[in-house]
Amino acid sequence: MSSPDAAPSSRCVFCDIAEKRSPAWIVYEDPATVAFLDIFPFTRGHLLVIPRQHGARLTDLAPESRRALIQSVAQMGHRVERLAPDYNVALNAGAAAGQIVFHVHFHVIPRYGEANPFRATTRAPLEAEDAQRLLAELSPA
Ligand code: AMP
Ligand code: ZN
Repeated sequence: MSSPDAAPSSRCVFCDIAEKRSPAWIVYEDPATVAFLDIFPFTRGHLLVIPRQHGARLTDLAPESRRALIQSVAQMGHRVERLAPDYNVALNAGAAAGQIVFHVHFHVIPRYGEANPFRATTRAPLEAEDAQRLLAELSPA
């Protein structure tokens, strides 16, 4: 059964990014998934990993899309280890769990030993200069 937020959305912001209708700082892409920098990062190098297939939750995805997504999350975890040895992987499913964009995505959030960054009430926007540097730091080895 589909989640309550599973209605297909041709104008979803993450579909637009995956289909290059909207700009994003894309770190990685393959036929099934895309990873890009979060524009309001919790920490430096905060990434989002999405399937190209639209669906609000993991349970809305075709199994092969879900498998590809997990594979890309693991790869992106490996990439952010260049920035910091430790990182969080998070997924918010549903508004009450903090989901704002209803196209399933994993957050990959490098941790630098700072206090809990998730409590921040305001998050500074990603700056273009740093985004350029991060793309270089996170590019394929
Ligand atoms: P969530 O609360 O799990 O739905 O998180 C959505 C995330 O998407 C937030 O961390 C936003 O900063 C991020 N976000 C929203 N729009 C964009 C965008 N156009 N490009 C990059 N990140 C975005
Ligand atoms: Zn979408």
